[in-house]
Amino acid sequence: MSHYKSNLRDIEFNLFEVLHADEHLGTGPFASMDRDTARMVLGEVDKFSRESAWATSFAPTDRTPLILDAETGDITVPEELHQALQAFYDAGWHTLPLPTELGGFGAPPSIRWATTELFLGGHATAALWPIGALMAMILNEEGTQGQKDLFAQNMVARCWGGTMVLTEPDAGSDVGAGTTKAVKIEEAGDDDLGSIWHLEGVKRFITSADYQGHENTIHVVLARPEGGEVGTKGLRLFLVPKLHVNADGSLGDRNGIKVTNIERKMGIKGSATCELTMGADAENPCVGYLVGNKDHDGDGIRQMFRVIEYARMMVGTKAMATLSTGYLNALEYAKIRVQGPDLTELTDKHAKKVTIINHPDVRRLLMDQKAHAEGLRALVMFTGWIQDQAQLTEGDPDEHLKWIKREDLMLPMVKGFGSEKAYELLAQSLQVFGGSGFTQDYPIEQYIRDAKIDTLYEGTTAIQSLDLFFRKIARDNGETLLWLVGQIREFADNGPDTILDERKALGQALDDVQSHLGKLIEWTMAAMQGGEHASEIYRTGLQSVGLLHSLSEVVIGWLLLRQSAIAQEKLAGGATGSDVDFYAGKCHAAAWFAHTVLPKVSLRTQLAQHEDAAAMAVPESAF
Ligand SMILES: Cc1cc2nc3c(=O)[nH]c(=O)nc-3n(C[C@H](O)[C@H](O)[C@H](O)COP(=O)(O)OP(=O)(O)OC[C@H]3O[C@@H](n4cnc5c(N)ncnc54)[C@H](O)[C@@H]3O)c2cc1C
Repeated sequence: MSHYKSNLRDIEFNLFEVLHADEHLGTGPFASMDRDTARMVLGEVDKFSRESAWATSFAPTDRTPLILDAETGDITVPEELHQALQAFYDAGWHTLPLPTELGGFGAPPSIRWATTELFLGGHATAALWPIGALMAMILNEEGTQGQKDLFAQNMVARCWGGTMVLTEPDAGSDVGAGTTKAVKIEEAGDDDLGSIWHLEGVKRFITSADYQGHENTIHVVLARPEGGEVGTKGLRLFLVPKLHVNADGSLGDRNGIKVTNIERKMGIKGSATCELTMGADAENPCVGYLVGNKDHDGDGIRQMFRVIEYARMMVGTKAMATLSTGYLNALEYAKIRVQGPDLTELTDKHAKKVTIINHPDVRRLLMDQKAHAEGLRALVMFTGWIQDQAQLTEGDPDEHLKWIKREDLMLPMVKGFGSEKAYELLAQSLQVFGGSGFTQDYPIEQYIRDAKIDTLYEGTTAIQSLDLFFRKIARDNGETLLWLVGQIREFADNGPDTILDERKALGQALDDVQSHLGKLIEWTMAAMQGGEHASEIYRTGLQSVGLLHSLSEVVIGWLLLRQSAIAQEKLAGGATGSDVDFYAGKCHAAAWFAHTVLPKVSLRTQLAQHEDAAAMAVPESAF
């Protein structure tokens, strides 16, 4: 039986009953996917994710090591994973996120993220392999015509692998510290493949850098032209094939890039995390093509950010998908595991034993998981819907920019908060299983190991929180945040009377998070005066993760209460069958979140108000 328990009902509720994402299906940029096709695709992906080799390869992939051929740098993955990936490619699922000109379905982002949740929930590690299609999509937008024709098209049509290559041993969070060197060898020629460079350096922690099932792998690498500007601005983006590609698309010799090590890790063990060495062999240099032939300061990091933003959304979706299946597994167990009497009969030795879902503390654990799993899904889906709006407004630059900035604001919450909360609450999923959860009889221990990475890659939680405050709020003068706050305030003030108490809790939490933000702004402005005030910025640094959590909780509280209002309407309108429980569950989850999670925002604000940066005064030797 599959480990994966999906929640297609809640996905469809978000898409079609709350966000009305179907309104634009079959029209404009989404002309090639109508509502029926969207529902059919969701159903098929749900089935594939639960019932095929995709889900059944989940445990074997964890238990069977990857094999690296030290001579060639080729990687062989476990047979079960290989079968799962081949089934994925055979079904053409790698084209799902792609635009029609690349052979894709032309699905709006909201639908794509819904299917991504299902793939990631069914087997997150497997879903990390086919990112060649994503890289093709970015190359198709950023590349020269020659790069689009020779690389992007073949990456999709021939299922090539792809990587995003930033990290180096001494350049992790600090991407701009990268030292991989690029030397220009040839200006761009008539083939329009961009200028040709030789790359030299060692990259670390690179996902999916080789696989026996990929005919070729295209590495997308950040490197610095010799003598280039320091920091991220001086970096450029290069397209580096594992095997050279001839003008007719046939494959040539090996390029001078090779996997030289794979990490032994806590989780996502079936995902190769590779050391990648470029230009170590003078006889066979590492040839790279400048992406889009763009050679100005800032170009490379801007291009790579296109990939990073997509990856951040993917990581947040992975975290949410894992928490959701963790919760649903725990729920199933809680309904069948019999242990002890009901608390009201604790002293009666002859009392009937009950299933553990009857114990108040198990209820607490389950409600917390349910409210957060559905809340994080609401956050992801809302962000997907914002991306839909960005695509729909492409013809109106001002309006389009507004939606892009709204997406930018949401991403640290989706990725930073989503990953932290999912990891924390998966421990509660395990707790419901008692000792059994600690064993490999159930998937939870693997979920936890596989989910930990989500708080780390694509920018750690600290980096997400700094991004949220400095780039997405302060640099924007709070304009985009104001749009979001306005929507939440309107609902808190004027939403339905049936959830009056919950709306009050939301309004209070919104006041609190604004005070919290006010403190960060105050300290940051003070620090800008410099001199003795410069260290005020430490207070901002100490309280930025708190702000990320509080703002995310307020947004999720709002999204869940909006859902609750709709569910109440459906119940009042005569919902029947399983929908009655579904909608009732939505109302309970939202109320739980408002009454038990939102008050924590006030506490966090109090902590922020008392922040004295004492931690920074502690001598290192006193730690
Ligand atoms: C399994 C796996 C897969 C990966 N895949 C890829 C990939 O495909 N491509 C790629 O390029 N990279 C990849 N990475 C690298 C990943 O993105 C980095 O590990 C991550 O960005 C953190 O960098 P670091 O490990 O060097 O940690 P560090 O940057 O050394 O951070 C260590 C700690 O210090 C904190 N810290 C660092 N700087 C600051 C700061 N300015 N303010 C506050 N706190 C700070 C961090 O939050 C963290 O807690 C992968 C990593 C792993 C483990």
